[in-house]
Amino acid sequence: MSRYAVISDIHGNLHAFEAVLKDMASRDVHEVICLGDIVGYGPSPDVCLDLVIKYCTIAIQGNHDQAVVDLRLSNQFNGAARQAIVWTQEKLGPLHLDALNRLRPFAYIGDLIHCIHDCPVPGPSDYIHDEAAASIAFSGVETTICLVGHTHVPVVFQTESMDAGKVLPLDEITVHPAPPDTPIQLDPSCRYICNPGSIGQPRDADPRASYAVLDLDEMTFTVHRVEYDISAAQAATLKAGLPPILAERLAIGA
Ligand code: ZN
Repeated sequence: MSRYAVISDIHGNLHAFEAVLKDMASRDVHEVICLGDIVGYGPSPDVCLDLVIKYCTIAIQGNHDQAVVDLRLSNQFNGAARQAIVWTQEKLGPLHLDALNRLRPFAYIGDLIHCIHDCPVPGPSDYIHDEAAASIAFSGVETTICLVGHTHVPVVFQTESMDAGKVLPLDEITVHPAPPDTPIQLDPSCRYICNPGSIGQPRDADPRASYAVLDLDEMTFTVHRVEYDISAAQAATLKAGLPPILAERLAIGA
């Protein structure tokens, strides 16, 4: 079958993305799936988008990607995020904006994997941070594996219930924190929501870039963390004139 690299939330951080691409090259992956938010926050949206188009067989549209194409949506974001969205739209030319606009809202790989940026059920639970949000999200998961990004925190939620369409009781959800280089075994008779964390702006207090390898032969999901030149990414963010908070948070993974 296949080994997929699963990447998300690059957010225009080319220093982090290049480090991940290099790390990935040593892991025998056959395809790369991008779960969206290629742009927003970081200073290199154009090059990051080019690399996604070059390397990814599936690329999903995230909420930042969408807002850069349609600035009316930027009102839903906080000040620094909104400034970065406006900056990104000014930075990108028509071809890049068109490429962002044509990213898919979701994708399926056979009947095994569902790929989406935030949540398979639209609504207030669109950040799947905890069991409560996962219990709602599983109602929209009709495949064994649902791949999501959006929270910038790597994690796997599991349920033995195969009852899609139903909000689950909290005690039917198991949370697997996803420490680096530790495969999480996936049981084909369960359902999973798997999040690879963020490449360009991790928010789990570990500033290293985060991504995952999904191995369908072994049925494992393994998160990897990659060191990169954070100072250089911060300098590029400031040089671009983006809000300083977007540079500062890279150092603490928040
Ligand atoms: Zn994001």
